[in-house]
Amino acid sequence: MLKSLPDKLGSGLHGAIPPRRYWAYYTWQEIDAIGKRDPNATAVINVGAVEQHGPHLPLITDTLVGMDMLGAALARLPDDVMVLALPPTNFGKSTEHTTFPGTLTWSGETLRMVLRDLAMSVARSGFGKLVLLGSHGGNVGTLDDVFRDLRIETDIRIFKIFLGAIGQVPGLVAPEEAAIAMHSGDSETSMVRHLAPELVHMDRAEGYVFDPTPEIGYSFKGSDVVEAWVASDLSKSGAIGNPHRSSAAKGQQMCEAKASRLATLLEAVYRSPRREIRVAPRDA
Ligand SMILES: [Zn+2]
Repeated sequence: MLKSLPDKLGSGLHGAIPPRRYWAYYTWQEIDAIGKRDPNATAVINVGAVEQHGPHLPLITDTLVGMDMLGAALARLPDDVMVLALPPTNFGKSTEHTTFPGTLTWSGETLRMVLRDLAMSVARSGFGKLVLLGSHGGNVGTLDDVFRDLRIETDIRIFKIFLGAIGQVPGLVAPEEAAIAMHSGDSETSMVRHLAPELVHMDRAEGYVFDPTPEIGYSFKGSDVVEAWVASDLSKSGAIGNPHRSSAAKGQQMCEAKASRLATLLEAVYRSPRREIRVAPRDA
C-alpha cells in the first residue's frame, strides 16, 4: 500500500514526484513490508544529467524534464499500482559536453558502478522490478550496456525506457529539424519553456544546424553508419537544432503525450507477470 502523505509537505526534496510515491519518504520497515507483500513492487529511477544546454537552457534540463515527466506519470497511476520513484541520479555521462563550462559529468564506468550499486540496493530491499528511465541521450549507450548485467547480478527484473523516444506527437516538429536536432533544439526548448519558462533565455538562443548525409549520422536517427561526436563538432553555442521554432504551447503537447505514455508503460511494467514459455509447436 502507498504511504498516506499530503501533497504538500515541509520538505521539497521530492520535487515533481508525488510525496507518497517518493521512495525516500518511506521508513525501512515500510519498504520491507511492500517488498514482502507485493512481488511486482517496482522502483523507477530517472538517470539524468547536468550539462551545457546552449546559451538559453539551464544545465539541469535533462534531469528537470525527466523528473517532471516521471512525476506527472506517477500522479496518474491507480493506487493499486505499486511504483515508487528513487531519488534521481542528477548526474550522468555527459562527456560529449566537457568543453563547455558548467558540465558536471561521470565517466561511463562511474555511471555503471552507480547503477549497479543502486540496483543491488533495490534488490536487497525486496522489490522485484527496477526501471531505468533515461532522459539524456548520452546515457543511452551505458544503460544499454549495463541493464542486462543488472538482470544477471541482481536476479530481479530490469527495464529501461528512453523518454526521448516515447510519446512522439506527429507533425509538431519539422522533418528537417527532427533529422538533426539532438540537443537544445525545438523539442527540448519547447518542453522547458512549458515546464520552467523562468529558466529559459530565448533572447540568447543560438542554434546550429548541418546538412544530414544519407549514409552517416549521429546515433539514434536510423543511419547505417554512426560517427562519434562531441557537441563542439556540431555547434559553437552548444545547441544542436533550431530553438527558434520552439513554443511553450508545443512543449505542453509534447509533455502531455510523454507523461501519458510513461504512465501507461509504468503500469504495464508493474502488471507484467513473468513470461510463460512453452515448447514450440511442431506442426508449422
Ligand atoms: Zn538535454
